[in-house]
Amino acid sequence: MRCPKCNRQQVVIKITVRGETLTMHSCSPCDLRWWEADEGVLPLAGVLDLAAASR
Ligand SMILES: [Zn+2]
Repeated sequence: MRCPKCNRQQVVIKITVRGETLTMHSCSPCDLRWWEADEGVLPLAGVLDLAAASR
C-alpha cells in the first residue's frame, strides 16, 4: 500500500483490539496516519475509544 499523497511505501502496523484486527498506515514524510479495520477506514477518535475500552 502506498501513500495517496506522496506515493511512497507506507509503514503498516497491525494490532488486535478486542478481537478486531486494526491496521495502522503511517507515512512519516507526510505526517499522515490512518487506521483501517475490516469494515474500512476508521476515524482516529473511534480507534482511541476502542483502545481505551480495552483497558
Ligand atoms: Zn506520504
